Amino acid sequence: MAKKEDNEKCCLCGRGESPTRPLLTGRSGAVCSDCIEQAYTLCKDAGLITESGKKTKKSSKWDIDLESLPRPSEIKEFLDQYVIGQDDAKRYLSVAVYNHYKRLLQPTTSQVDEHVEIEKSNIILVGRTGTGKTLLARTIAKMLKVPFAIVDATVLTEAGYVGEDVESLLVRLLQATDYDVEAAQRGIVFIDEIDKIARKGDNPSITRDVSGEGVQQGLLKLLEGSVVNVPPQGGRKHPEQKLISIDTKNILFICGGAFEGIERKIALRLNTHVVGYNNAAAQQVDRDNLLQYVAPQDLRSFGLIPEIIGRLPILTYLEPLDRNALRRILTEPRNSIIKQYIKLFAMDNVTLTFDDDMLDYVVDKAIEYKLGARGLRSIVESIMIDAMYEIPSSGVKELHITRQYAEEKAERINRLQIS
Ligand code: ADP
Repeated sequence: MAKKEDNEKCCLCGRGESPTRPLLTGRSGAVCSDCIEQAYTLCKDAGLITESGKKTKKSSKWDIDLESLPRPSEIKEFLDQYVIGQDDAKRYLSVAVYNHYKRLLQPTTSQVDEHVEIEKSNIILVGRTGTGKTLLARTIAKMLKVPFAIVDATVLTEAGYVGEDVESLLVRLLQATDYDVEAAQRGIVFIDEIDKIARKGDNPSITRDVSGEGVQQGLLKLLEGSVVNVPPQGGRKHPEQKLISIDTKNILFICGGAFEGIERKIALRLNTHVVGYNNAAAQQVDRDNLLQYVAPQDLRSFGLIPEIIGRLPILTYLEPLDRNALRRILTEPRNSIIKQYIKLFAMDNVTLTFDDDMLDYVVDKAIEYKLGARGLRSIVESIMIDAMYEIPSSGVKELHITRQYAEEKAERINRLQIS
């Protein structure tokens, strides 16, 4: 506590109180209004506060502004460089992300009707595993230079059960920003395998459903936007732990899931709608790719609760990858697998080239093993492993990989796998 005389003089300039120079007294002393004014000028000159006395925001590498915010068509063009196909998903995502950041950067001046509040539009992507859901979300975050975190819904459990609390998924975002809370509050969280927390069965359970409905309820408040207390290191909350408050109002949630078997529910819905009176419509249904017709009610019959579906208003799908798409994935994306190998060898001053039919062979194998896009890398890796081992110390300057070479290497891998 300050002594009485400490409170009668300014602790900075030593002068006493006067009618034109009141003192601001605190627990351990007093400061006069002249010194406060000087401090204000100092802060203003250093750019720490504005003319109106408001604190200016610290600039950070995560800052974005309305002028530099890429337009949806630019976002899609960027995505095209990294992700093959998936045009519908790209368009939906580009618009949703653009609107999200527009909402976040909306001017507070009277130019825009202040009674109109743009609502948050979280996204849900439905598509088989390995078709590019995570890649899309990751690429968008890279383009916008906003913090990005991927979390798996399967590790989440209802509060009080073994597993992680729902709030813990914000920890990754905090870690991605080095605990810059403001930046984290404008980031993107990709929640993978959202389908795994679907309610089992169509009817609400009367008993507790640890991995399902309870977690969905927990997620609700994060998705809609609220202030949540997060344990900085993740895991479970302890009573005596220091928590960080995060407002999720401006965090964009992109959820992804394979929703295996949802096609049956889509088909069922389409059939009940078209049978009998509108056969033409039934004929037009593309039975090979039913996911394109996915609608909120299908997610509901799959086991997502209506409240969650309501908070994921942008619903889009990813197409299964066919042979042509897999072939393009090998070479076309900016950091395609093949380009990565060429770069690896170039670092040893080796020029690496591939026969076209060697690449076709890799695609054939990925299809044969039912590995999809994820398998492409492991197949190429198995083919290239010997070369990567031998070439750096061999003095070879050029290496051409033929189909025959690939077949020989792959044959050996096949045998190893069988024995
Ligand atoms: P998921 O849909 O399961 O989230 P990912 O996005 O993780 O799938 O895809 C796995 C890998 O497969 C990616 O890292 C990428 O290399 C490749 N891949 C998948 N789909 C595409 C695509 N449409 N375009 C380019 N690469 C893709």
